[in-house]
Amino acid sequence: FAIMPVRDASTVEQNRRASWFSHKSETAKPYYYQVYLADHDINVEIAPADRAAAMMFTYPAGEVSGVVVDAYDEGSYIKVLPEKQAIIGYTTKNCGGVPDNFRNWFVVKFDKPFESTMVYDGPAKGLGEALEFEGNHALASVGFRTQRDEKVNIKVASSFISLEQAWLNLEEVGDKTFAQVKFQAKDRWNDILSRIQIGGGSEEQYRTFYSCLYRATLFPRKFYEINSNGTPVHYSPYDGQVHNGYLYTDTGFWDTFRALFPLLNLVYPSVNKEIQQGLANIARENRFLPEWASPGHRGCMVGNNSASVVADAILKGITPEEDWQTLYDCIVYGTENVHPTVNSSGRLGHEYYNSIGYIPYNIGIHESVARTLEYAYDDWCILQLARKMGRPETEFSKWESRSGNWRNVFDPSHNLMRGRNADGTFQEPFSPYKWGGAFTEGNAWHYTWSVFHDVDGLAEAMGGKEVFAQMLDSVFVVPPIYDDSYYGYRIHEITEMQVANMGNYAHGNQPAQHMIYLYNWAGQPWKTQKWVREVMDRLYSATPDGYCGDEDNGQTSAWYVFSALGFYPVCPGSDEYAVGAPLFKKAVVHLENGCDLEINAPDNGPENRYVRGMKVNCSRWNESFFKHKHLAAGAVIDFNMTSDCHPER
Ligand code: CA
Repeated sequence: FAIMPVRDASTVEQNRRASWFSHKSETAKPYYYQVYLADHDINVEIAPADRAAAMMFTYPAGEVSGVVVDAYDEGSYIKVLPEKQAIIGYTTKNCGGVPDNFRNWFVVKFDKPFESTMVYDGPAKGLGEALEFEGNHALASVGFRTQRDEKVNIKVASSFISLEQAWLNLEEVGDKTFAQVKFQAKDRWNDILSRIQIGGGSEEQYRTFYSCLYRATLFPRKFYEINSNGTPVHYSPYDGQVHNGYLYTDTGFWDTFRALFPLLNLVYPSVNKEIQQGLANIARENRFLPEWASPGHRGCMVGNNSASVVADAILKGITPEEDWQTLYDCIVYGTENVHPTVNSSGRLGHEYYNSIGYIPYNIGIHESVARTLEYAYDDWCILQLARKMGRPETEFSKWESRSGNWRNVFDPSHNLMRGRNADGTFQEPFSPYKWGGAFTEGNAWHYTWSVFHDVDGLAEAMGGKEVFAQMLDSVFVVPPIYDDSYYGYRIHEITEMQVANMGNYAHGNQPAQHMIYLYNWAGQPWKTQKWVREVMDRLYSATPDGYCGDEDNGQTSAWYVFSALGFYPVCPGSDEYAVGAPLFKKAVVHLENGCDLEINAPDNGPENRYVRGMKVNCSRWNESFFKHKHLAAGAVIDFNMTSDCHPER
């Protein structure tokens, strides 16, 4: 729903009420937004709470100043409550895939009495004296006289549960002044962003780092609310009912299993604990975990990477044990079924994959190699879970064998992943430059590395570490040419690869984002260090063009946060991080268990631009935390347990 302050309360239609504004007269901070609306001569300020916000409008002198509240079309309701100085209602606007009873209820409360009100049945049809309307497009405006520079405060809250709950959510801002809401939000963001402290870098690097950390902590979003007893409750976009407990939404696991969830597990485990409890709730509310929740199942991307997200959290001790079995059963169910209406949840092509070990290229299931590779990694994650949960050993062989299914789409004649037909022959014609087809938003150069769990096996299949390293080198060496015939046009991810001028390396999209770290497995860690620095220095900045592609729910930001710290979770579900090149001379991660992870990386001098020694005081893990700790000569990795932190904490 929209809230728009206007200089004339009768201008309700969206193109008429719209205003020019400039980014030069705008302030955007995590906890505060301000913009000057030139056509209305109104300054707007907003400060957030979790499910509510405070807004302050500074008006010019006017007889008919006002505010428009638009609940939009395709089903909405609005009611003006003059005695309460409030407007209430609901909108049903959504991205699709929600039950018919989906409602976003809202309450907008003013600190100034209304001198006029008008409720509309669509923007062109005012309803005279009526104070409410329910129908296709409900809208309302309220008017009042204002002095020059008069400030009108409103408080707004919404709920996916009920109008009563929306009033309850309004208590988050309650009687607080605008400044109080603003400074509470500032404190909240400072708490979140100060969990990692950095030093020994440039002002630009600090801005980039914290901009990335900010975006990495925006998603997924809380979809649960707190009821009058103070306990979490949620409307389920999976069964349309209201249930007890947590629920989060707005994340695509295809993107975020890679680094975003591992970052939450490291720095914000209490948040991911709630997210995992929410996933267990989803498993109770329907048979599938979402792969692209927005807010319910959404048909987008491929893979079954909820297995990775769940496994990594359980293996790292985040998820309450009472939820393990529910989650495990749901994941296993998803390996043998596909959602009846949203085929990106569960596993499309499971019949083929589970019988012949891959999804054939020529049977009408698009992106068959991407699916096969991700299912194989997901099966490895399930194997880790099965072991952790003490499942019968007889079950292990199934997951173990399926986790090797990446071999079925590996073509040794090219040392690349390649579409494979049902009869076992490889796809013809084959071009490693062809995006899509057998792959998802990428090509064979990008997807060949999607064997997160068996990098050594992949290197061996290619003929050893030397060849493996040459293949990695080739990604950067081959020209940034492409075949976009699968899409019929050049998708933006292709453009982003081209303009970066790193050959076929495509950091602007997720499939290859772990690739640089694989040089560690080839025994050539200096190339990891070089390319990690190149990407951090060239492709990230704290400016409007500061990302080289879609940011994607925190994933591309989490890559930077980890990389700047000097390590990266190549294989979520394992307890290994691959070492890169710390960007800052010092970094401290304040862990929620009260201990600090301290990274000291003194500069090794100008002739050794990329390589820094890395001394890690690691209070939570032992040395196995960093398995691939090869660094060039002169570099140091040191592990110290701080004496006041017991490792089991
Ligand atoms: Ca993407």
